[in-house]
Amino acid sequence: MLLKNRLFTPGPTPLLPAAQTAMAAFSLHHRTADFKALFSRVLSDMKDFIGTKNDVLVLSCSGTGVLEGSVSNLTSPGDKVLVLTAGKFGERWRDLAKTYGCNVELISVPYGETFSLDEIKQKLTPDIKAVYVQATESSTGVRHDVQGISKLVRANGDDTLLVVDAITGLGTTHFDVDGWGIDIIIGGSQKALMIPPGLANAAFSERAWKRMDTTKSPRYYFDFRKERKNAAKGESAYTPATSLFAALGAALDFVRQMGAGDLAAGRKALVDNAELAAEMTRAGAKALGLTLFAPTAPAAALTAINAPAGLDSSALVKDFRDRFSAVVANGQGDMKGKMIRVAHIGYYDYLDTIGILGALEHVLAKVTGKPVEYGAAVKAAQQVYAQASAGKPQLVGV
Ligand SMILES: *Cc1c(COP(=O)(O)O)cnc(C)c1O
Repeated sequence: MLLKNRLFTPGPTPLLPAAQTAMAAFSLHHRTADFKALFSRVLSDMKDFIGTKNDVLVLSCSGTGVLEGSVSNLTSPGDKVLVLTAGKFGERWRDLAKTYGCNVELISVPYGETFSLDEIKQKLTPDIKAVYVQATESSTGVRHDVQGISKLVRANGDDTLLVVDAITGLGTTHFDVDGWGIDIIIGGSQKALMIPPGLANAAFSERAWKRMDTTKSPRYYFDFRKERKNAAKGESAYTPATSLFAALGAALDFVRQMGAGDLAAGRKALVDNAELAAEMTRAGAKALGLTLFAPTAPAAALTAINAPAGLDSSALVKDFRDRFSAVVANGQGDMKGKMIRVAHIGYYDYLDTIGILGALEHVLAKVTGKPVEYGAAVKAAQQVYAQASAGKPQLVGV
């Protein structure tokens, strides 16, 4: 049978065709007026995408570059920081903070779970300079309570900054960045922005900018204050990934169209779309007798589905690829073999979701060798869709 390659991975995600066309046609030099106009427009639109009035930077690097900068710019060696970790990306915060010589306090919960706000409250002392957390832990499919955590951090005083890795959270989760007082919120191009890897973005509070005046950790490429000065003139300090800026401009236009001309409304529609696809997927998996890896606080960004007992999930991943050319993610690190992860971040629609659930039925039947009730997952997902949307068309893919 004919096969189309399809990504269901939590980054990179499927590309928006209009963004691909925009980047293919692009050849502006980065120090020209035309490029500066594009650069400034992208930064301004990104504020609406993130939902903030704070200054935003878009840097040429993968997401981890801005994670690293959010440690090097906000801390000095020896500073006490609190890292909340519940998976591979939380562990990345821990490792980065240690790399820059921070005195790392850790709250660590088992994979698949989220934090207790009480425990965070107890650990928050006035000497903690920054709190690092994920909005959605892409390695486990968990959503953390960023609003609840923000309240606690803000109550701890202005000397404690809150840094949120929302690389899979932006575009899949509703945030009130300024209202909650998030000091840095970080996103990446290869997630809900529907373009290739290579750009990372972040919004910075005035508290965060002020902190950067006094911190002593070394930084050069990721010197955010230098980038902020350049951004005010429509430039980046070094050569930006120019064609990706063209792609990002087109992607932001697409999100604006989803909101009928209002980018913030488009972002909300994109989040609702991910929520619905995730709910359909959870219902579909359960209808097949499968269990979720993160049942108590599942993210809309992705759904982590446990492999049936005694089965290595690698066999599922392989059969999805071999027979359907569908790329789903395996577990990461110690979780490899235990689960498959199916993403809903960005450019996914109803048919993608129904399609991957239909394929899941075939994959399970083959890999387990047990009979599967064909249509069970699809039916459960259709019921969720019918109830949630009451026939309203979904907006992604318009
Ligand atoms: C994808 C992702 C990252 C960024 O990884 P890069 O490979 O550096 O782009 C960071 N955090 C989370 C939660 C992610 O999903």
